[in-house]
Amino acid sequence: MKMKLSNEDISSVRVRQIERISGEDVRKCYQCGNCSGGCPVSFEMEIPPSQVVRFLQLGRVDEVMAANSMWVCVGCLQCYSRCPKGVSVAAMLEALRQTVLRKGEDFEKIKDLPYPFLKKAPQQALVCGFRKFVS
Ligand code: SF4
Ligand code: SF4
Repeated sequence: MKMKLSNEDISSVRVRQIERISGEDVRKCYQCGNCSGGCPVSFEMEIPPSQVVRFLQLGRVDEVMAANSMWVCVGCLQCYSRCPKGVSVAAMLEALRQTVLRKGEDFEKIKDLPYPFLKKAPQQALVCGFRKFVS
């Protein structure tokens, strides 16, 4: 993918906001790829964990926001446990989700889910899901 970079992108206020919410410093990542290698769901992500960090390092927040990665992440913290730099991509993805949900944009709506699904789904999965997808 070709992309143009500017100083404004790299010192993006939006990236600093993600860092504030997550408590992480995107610049600590040196792109070893261990997080993506261990992530059990990276194959389903449009942008895998290590590349999420890379996009943030480059100030490319729009690309990360448009990708499904933050919604696919199951919060298992495998990425954090494998990172030699102690970076938590999980926390960054959670921060990205928070920035969407704080705008009041629900990713899922309970009323849109079919009743047979709600009846059969494990309660814990429902609670986890709605903490993640509903503001
Ligand atoms: S916390 Fe999310 S990004 Fe990290 S390994 Fe688990 S599923 Fe992947
Ligand atoms: S494991 Fe850590 S240092 Fe390596 S790419 Fe992932 S976040 Fe960056």
